[in-house]
Order: sequence, then structure tokens, then C-alpha cells
Amino acid sequence: MGRSAQVFTAQWIDGDWRPSDAVDGIDVLDPSDESLLAVVPAGTLDDARRAAEAARAAQPRWAATPVKDRIAFVERLARRLSERAGELAEVIVSEVGAPVTVARQAQVGLAVAMTESFAELATGFAFERRAGNSLVLREPAGVVAAITPWNVPLLLTLQKVVPALLAGCAVVHKPSELTPLNAYLLAEITAECGLPPGVFNVVVGTGEGAGADLVRSPDVDMVSLTGSVRAGRQVASMAARRVKRVHLELGGKNAGILLDDADLRLGVAATVDQMCFNTGQACLQWSRLLVPADRHDEAAELAAGLAGRYRVGDPRDPDTDLGPLISDQARERVRGYIATGVAEGATLLAGGEEAPEGRERGYYVRPTVFSEVRETMTIAKEEIFGPVLSIMPYRDEDEAIEIANNTPYGLHGAVWSADIGRARHVATRMRVGQVDINGGPFNILAPFGGVKQSGIGRECGVEGLEEFCETKSLQLPVDVAAPVGPRLRAHA
Ligand code: NAD
Repeated sequence: MGRSAQVFTAQWIDGDWRPSDAVDGIDVLDPSDESLLAVVPAGTLDDARRAAEAARAAQPRWAATPVKDRIAFVERLARRLSERAGELAEVIVSEVGAPVTVARQAQVGLAVAMTESFAELATGFAFERRAGNSLVLREPAGVVAAITPWNVPLLLTLQKVVPALLAGCAVVHKPSELTPLNAYLLAEITAECGLPPGVFNVVVGTGEGAGADLVRSPDVDMVSLTGSVRAGRQVASMAARRVKRVHLELGGKNAGILLDDADLRLGVAATVDQMCFNTGQACLQWSRLLVPADRHDEAAELAAGLAGRYRVGDPRDPDTDLGPLISDQARERVRGYIATGVAEGATLLAGGEEAPEGRERGYYVRPTVFSEVRETMTIAKEEIFGPVLSIMPYRDEDEAIEIANNTPYGLHGAVWSADIGRARHVATRMRVGQVDINGGPFNILAPFGGVKQSGIGRECGVEGLEEFCETKSLQLPVDVAAPVGPRLRAHA
């Protein structure tokens, strides 16, 4: 064990560190050099049960806490996250391997901005409204199990936890077993902000272990999962036994469509940049770039040239563009896809299977570009979750849309055109939850989520808050309701 490796033996339950009865520990590795960062408990059924019971006990009082007080807590949380941003980014660099610039801006900076924006949004949210003689209430969905992945861990956790808390839900968070250390910090921070005990709990463990135990727990009313389609299916089927609410943010095989009038240079540069973002480990990556057949070679050459300029290296170096992948398993998976791409006849223009020069230790891969990719090839069909781009030619607009939609996923997409109206029309024909037009930037206020096997429900924005609310209607007697307007009297 490395000298600095920390050993954790407790879970954050009911506002304190409670010893876990786990016999097994999970090693948390630094993917940049494979060293041991920490050992954390492989949470048990008892850990999950205790955390869910603590949340269940805290739920009624938190639900009855005035909205303004819940908002005040979230405002304090945003401030404290901002004060501890440096520390959070450092932890994320260590356990995710995210380049330090990405960790500071997209991982922690955006998480703080997201928290602030939810506090603002909740201020204007209609927790109750009149509809004829009814009062429609938005009540908390109950105890939420928030299960998150490792790629953008803090942001994706807060995207669930903050709106859940604002809605009046108590939460049990199960972070990815690969990146639990930022979740320990978050637990500490929520306590520093004065959150009552039991309202936020953290259980560290595997998906099949503590994760599944939470999903099955009778004290959990709703499960919000971000992760793979595989995990989504398992969670949905377990939750179905008690007809629990599920909210699923799953994988993608997203396409960017360059229309024939598009600025090719702009579209290709943005696509390569996005392919490299977070070392290709982003659910919204456009892993397929669809280009008109007569511009295919030009686009491919440009993409390959650009990909070669991205620097792979130590994530702690501010000049690094791509750090390592998360794990040995992830590196082997990505290398396997690259080998399959070559074997199935795609043209390898940049990158490849071999480790980047001087990066044999750590889970590094090279940004890789394939051209002449056809729909039937594995790399065009499956989510690779690494820095690998497939450039695919198309004949006309209809075929481009058909190729883009020909996948079980439906998360994200992009369109590039000189004519915004035309781009917008194409975007409406894409079966996905979100489309960027001519590089329109990510917007924390816009609902995010997928259709088809990319998920159920939305995060971010008003829809992201509604996700954690149940709706109740109170039908008022007409003499009480009457003062609101003549329509009600007409109903009487
Ligand atoms: P994963 O499915 O392996 O794990 C995600 C989380 O689910 C982890 O905490 C894991 O422990 C837990 N889990 C796994 N199986 C479970 C089960 N049976 N019951 C309960 N919990 C379970 O995914 P990952 O490798 O951590 O993340 C990568 C995947 O996440 C990719 O497919 C990516 O596209 C997707 N993702 C989606 C979004 C989005 O917003 N749609 C965002 C980021 C990542």
C-alpha cells in the first residue's frame, strides 16, 4: 500500500460516520499511475438498510421544512462547494484521472454553477398552483436513492441531490465504487452547511451490492440512476417489484451531422474537441460524425490532423488535454474496439491500439479517428466511452438522419449548417433528448436526458426539479374556490 493511501471504514449515515460492517474493502486507484489512493468499505445490506432508514426517519421533517429554508441550505452548499473547489478538483484529478483544467472547470466549476442555478430556479418554482377549483401541489417524491457513475462524479451527483433536496426529499447517495472520495467530501460539506442529520446519507459499495440493496429497500421510494444501459435495466426491473419511480440517465451513441452547407472546419474541430473531452468519457460525446460523401475525405483528414495535436499526459499538468481512462478494464475495452474497427475494415487515420509514447503505466490511450465507417461496424453501433471518433459518409439529408437514428440509444446529437432553420428542422427529426446546433454551448438550465434506451426522465432546469416531485390535487368546494374567477362559478 502506498504511504498516502487512506483507509475508510465508515459510511455517512444520519449525520455522522457510522462504522460499516463490511468485511471486504474496495481499492480506489489513481488511474494515472495505478497507485493505491484509498481503501473504502464494500457497503453491505446492513449499511444500505441503516442509511435508508435514516433517510426515511428524516423525510417528514425535511418535507415540512419551508421551501425558503431548503433554498437557503442549497445557497450555503453552493458557497461552501465554491470555497472547497480546489480540494474537490484535486480529489477528482486523483480518482477520475481528469485533466486538472477539466476537473476545475467542467467538473467542479459547473457543479457549483448548477447548485446555484437550482437555488434560483426553486425560488420561482410553482410548488402549488390553481387549476379550476383544484389546488395542484408538488410534493416530495419521498426517499431517493441517487446512484451515480465515475466520469463526472460531483456534477452528476449534485444534478440529482440538489433538486431532490429542494423538492423536500431525503437522499441516500451511492457513488461509483471507482470514485467514492469526492462523495466523502460532499458528505462533510453538507454537514458544514447545517443539513439536518439523515437528510443526506452516503453508502459506498458496488452496484450489485449496496446499490441493488438500496434499490430493493422498502424505505426507498424513488431511484435516480446515471450509468450504463446494463445497470439501468437491472435497476428498472428491481424497482418494478414495488412499482417504484425510476429516473434513468443512461448511455449514448451520439451523432453529429455536418450538412452540405456547413462550415466543415468549425464542425470537425468542435467534434474532435468534444471527442477528447474528459478523455472521451462523456455520455454526450458525438462518437459518430456524419459527413456528405463528397466531403468525407476532407473532413477525415482534418479530424486526423487535429486529433494528433491533443496532448495525452499527466492529468496534474495544466497543459494536458487527455488524462488516462478510468481503469485497466476501460483501457482494454477501448483498445478492443480499436482493434475491432481495424479488423472490420474501417480506416485508421489517427491514434491506434498502442499506448501513447512514454505512457505504459497508467490507463492511457491515444485519441483515435476512423474514417469510412459503415453502419454495420461494431464501432458505429456500440458505446465505446473513450476518445474514438467514427467518420461516416452519407448520400443525402434523409440518409444522414436515418443513420443518426439507427441506434438503440437516443441521448444527444449535433447539427452543423449555414442555415439555422435547416439545422433546426434536422434537429427535430433526430430521436434524442438534446441537440446542439452549430456548437451551441451546454446550458445548465436546459433539460437533459435521453429517449429510447438512453433513459427515462430529465435532469437540469425546471424538469430536473419536477422529476423529484409527486403531484397531488386538492378539489376545493366551489364556495372556497369561487373567488379565483368566473370560470369556477360556471362549473358549479
Ligand atoms: P455503471 O452502470 O457501471 O455504474 C453506474 C452506477 O450504477 C455505479 O454507482 C454502479 O455501482 C451502479 N450500479 C451498477 N449496477 C447496479 C445495479 N444492478 N444496481 C444498482 N446500482 C448499480 O456505469 P459507469 O461505468 O459508472 O458509467 C458509464 C456509463 O454511464 C456510460 O454508459 C455513460 O454513457 C453513462 N452516463 C450517462 C450519463 C447521462 O446523463 N445520460 C452521464 C454520465 C454517464
